[in-house]
Amino acid sequence: MKTYNITLLKGDGIGPEIVDQAVKVLNAVGKKFDFTVNYTDALIGGAAIDATGEPLPQATIDDCLASDAVLLGAVGGYKWDGLSGKQRPEAGLLGIRAALGLFANLRPAKIYGPLKSACPLRPDIIGDSMDIMVVRELTGGIYFGERGRTEKDGVEGAYDTEYYSKPEIVRIAKVAFETAMKRGKKLHSIDKANVLESSRLWRETVNEMAKEYPEVEVNHLYIDNAAMQLVRNPKQFDVMVTSNIFGDILSDEASQIAGSIGMLASASLGEGTRGLYEPIHGSAPDIAGQNIANPLATILSVAMMLRYSLNEDAAADAIEKAVEKVLDDGLRTPDIYTEGTTKIGTDAMGDAVAAAL
Ligand code: NAD
Repeated sequence: MKTYNITLLKGDGIGPEIVDQAVKVLNAVGKKFDFTVNYTDALIGGAAIDATGEPLPQATIDDCLASDAVLLGAVGGYKWDGLSGKQRPEAGLLGIRAALGLFANLRPAKIYGPLKSACPLRPDIIGDSMDIMVVRELTGGIYFGERGRTEKDGVEGAYDTEYYSKPEIVRIAKVAFETAMKRGKKLHSIDKANVLESSRLWRETVNEMAKEYPEVEVNHLYIDNAAMQLVRNPKQFDVMVTSNIFGDILSDEASQIAGSIGMLASASLGEGTRGLYEPIHGSAPDIAGQNIANPLATILSVAMMLRYSLNEDAAADAIEKAVEKVLDDGLRTPDIYTEGTTKIGTDAMGDAVAAAL
């Protein structure tokens, strides 16, 4: 029987509650698909600050590097709001992404049938379903390029630089093509090649790589058009790949279309198969400890972990189907509750998904 080593970074606020539900589901799916999981708990964020004085202790990095994948709850909370910069819980997040070399961020934006009413678009626009994966470059581009302030002839100015090396584009495009191969084999590459030289290199490189993936249909869109198409006809998209800054904006837009924040998972990937998986929401300190947080985003993050790090696609599918089943059965945590459905707590939602497996 296969055994996987997973580091759990439960973090702060609702982090521990939602990660516990995800562990329940991972254990249940392991039984069904014949694998076991060894868990290592490690500290991050406010919990790490309280225990060790820093948001990302070296021991946590070592544990993550020694594991097959990492599952993160969330970090941050009122208690640490007074701290500044590198002392803050959120510094732990940026630190662990850097330490693991995670350059690709994958965010699915999927509408589950029973939650269609959470989508802000008209029903005739989304139809039966919407299922998009945004692949965003995470460690390059204008957020990391040279920047500064200038003064010329007494006029103050500032600049930021969008720079991508070809290898940086190749590695993110590879993640996108591989992702498309696991899904609908359709890739939209988003750039601004009519204006930006960095986008022209991006587009050339994606086209070169397309030859290695003849099964994948490749389209190019300018970012302004892509932002418009996403609300006009989101169903045309399967996988979208784009730079750091464009991806920052597009992934938020796409996830908003999908509706509830408690439902949205994410994966951050690097060169190897090890990835970091987390819900896109924060630590929700306002509802922590009340057994009302929605654990489904974290549970769906486990499905991504199975698909992208552990190569257990059937187990990933099973979790996604189990989530759909509990929603079809009318079970809802308070954040997604509507009249006529059954309101349940965090624990009960974890139990229901595990049972549906
Ligand atoms: P948040 O995502 O934590 O919460 C926003 C709102 O959504 C709150 O009303 C919260 O109750 C609700 N919410 C979030 N997740 C939910 C869930 N699973 N179920 C039900 N309701 C949920 O964002 P915020 O309030 O801006 O930030 C709170 C803390 O989280 C801050 O310290 C922030 O820095 C941190 N944060 C961490 C991450 C992360 O760890 N990746 C991301 C964003 C914010």
